Amino acid sequence: MTRLLRFVRPYLAPLLLSVFLMAAVGAAQGLMALLIVPIFDRVLRPETPDSPVPLFTIPGFNHTIYLQQFVPASVHNIWVMVAIAILGVFLVKGLCDYFGNYFVNYVGLSAVTDLRQKVFDRVLRQDAHFFESNSTGRVMSSIMNDLEKIQVATSHMLADWLRQSFSVVFLLCVVLQKDWKLALASLTVLPFVLVPTLRIGRRIRRTTRRAQDQAGELSQILQETISGHQVVKSFGTEDLESNRFLVAANRLKASNLRYVALQALSSPLIEFFAAITIVILLTYARIQIKNHTLTPGEFTSFVIALLMLYEPVKRLTGIHNIFQQALGASQKVFEYLDRDQQIVERPGAAKLGKFQQAIVLDDISFRYSNAPNGFRLQGVKLEVRAGEVVALVGPSGAGKTTLANLVPRFYDVSAGAVRIDGKDVRDLQLASLREKIGMVAQETFLFNDTVANNIRYGKPKAKDEEIRAAARNAMAEEFIERMSQGYDTMIGERGVKLSGGQRQRLAIARALLKNAPILILDEATSHLDSESEVLVQRALQTLISNRTVIVIAHRLSTIRRADKIVVLDQGRISEFGTHEELVSHGGIYQRLHELQYLEPDPLVNP
Ligand code: ADP
Repeated sequence: MTRLLRFVRPYLAPLLLSVFLMAAVGAAQGLMALLIVPIFDRVLRPETPDSPVPLFTIPGFNHTIYLQQFVPASVHNIWVMVAIAILGVFLVKGLCDYFGNYFVNYVGLSAVTDLRQKVFDRVLRQDAHFFESNSTGRVMSSIMNDLEKIQVATSHMLADWLRQSFSVVFLLCVVLQKDWKLALASLTVLPFVLVPTLRIGRRIRRTTRRAQDQAGELSQILQETISGHQVVKSFGTEDLESNRFLVAANRLKASNLRYVALQALSSPLIEFFAAITIVILLTYARIQIKNHTLTPGEFTSFVIALLMLYEPVKRLTGIHNIFQQALGASQKVFEYLDRDQQIVERPGAAKLGKFQQAIVLDDISFRYSNAPNGFRLQGVKLEVRAGEVVALVGPSGAGKTTLANLVPRFYDVSAGAVRIDGKDVRDLQLASLREKIGMVAQETFLFNDTVANNIRYGKPKAKDEEIRAAARNAMAEEFIERMSQGYDTMIGERGVKLSGGQRQRLAIARALLKNAPILILDEATSHLDSESEVLVQRALQTLISNRTVIVIAHRLSTIRRADKIVVLDQGRISEFGTHEELVSHGGIYQRLHELQYLEPDPLVNP
């Protein structure tokens, strides 16, 4: 709660203004109740003389406020006076309500926008561990739905809460001043109303938390089936997925219904207690009016004030429930903000200068915290000197990708150290480390944006000529220029409108533009058509030249060109050397080679 309030603090001025305006709305409510007395006792009895109309006596001071003080002195007719007062009260109330509402919503929307941005920025900078333990759907649901709940509570509901609270205060003043004993007696029913509603509120909070989780589950299934629509189609699992969605949706429905049942219980509960109170009050009033100690106008004013009081109390409990809901939602949001990051920059971390000497894996060990099969890298020692091309080879699951990911510090080693030019990567500024490393993955991720902007991702300030040059060197210029809008063509989500080879060449253009001295390359295993293949290979040759390269290699051509070959097997280096040394060594490499696991060179043998 206090943490949510911290986001409101920058908007204190408009908030105080709206509090003031809402207080005026509450006061107008109280005045309305007070005007009931002259309406019933004077206006509706035209025979009464135009004597002063007392409205309110301030207890303790014996100072009475008269209706005449609120209208111009020239007005003497009681009805005109009351009419002016009614119109005036509603006008002021309307204006204050309008602006009060606007400013509260301004505060709420601004605070939630700040909070959402903070959560997004945080998620954006989370390390790989985070994305492994939180599903995309869950995180998206949190940023959208949970924040939506908080937004409703802090804008819309906060306005209502202020309005109703002030109404309660002013109406309480009215009823207490009229007949405090009677008022207290009728208010004794309040605890009977408040205690159960508070208890309901607590249960609502729990239900909401559960519903939020289930909504997350739903969007998870949605997200998976949409991005995996081809898998779903090819396996014909539409019914299975539909059923999975239905089960999750029904769970969400059950939770939401439980919420509605709890929420709807508050109102009838309060109304029933109100009915009891009114019956008792009417009995009392009959006796008093018969004894002439009470006028019907005073009694009506009292009852109306009391009824007006029940409305905001009822609303307040409803609002209380929505606040509880928002608090439940904010728990999850703050969990994201509080999550300890594992890959963090040390205070005073050094900047990595120009890469000159070597990348050294100094006897490193590593294991995933949640590896399903207990996989670990163990005792890996490797030196990649500046300008060298080192090929990582080995069966699938040997740990090649894992090893490569340690260099840009996507993960931290559990023993040993990764050093670049003698500096432990954990002591370096992350940005300075990662700007030195270009990566081209097997599966290229492209944004749903123009071709030019996708290439520009490698260097946001790049000029158009630089982008063209990168595309040309990546053998991509020709196909880009054949597209209807050239470099301004939108390529669809994840680049679905492009072929695999085209996507790869865009990724290579992007890496060329970034022009990082170190390159981590995960060679595509999927077969491209031979023309594409040749183009991709040429583009890669351009990319590799004059760089220090760690390549996860699947092709003989790449491996032969490498200065060193490292064969990984089950997380350990099992062989090390050149192609000639290893091909007759009798080890894994020879076996891979004989099984033609390593593909021949498309440039040499098209
Ligand atoms: P390769 O690239 O040689 O095919 P990887 O480095 O991708 O091998 O994977 C090595 C092992 O690590 C595999 O057994 C895999 O199950 C495990 N692994 C890979 N990524 C993760 C991860 N993010 N969390 C847990 N285990 C992982």
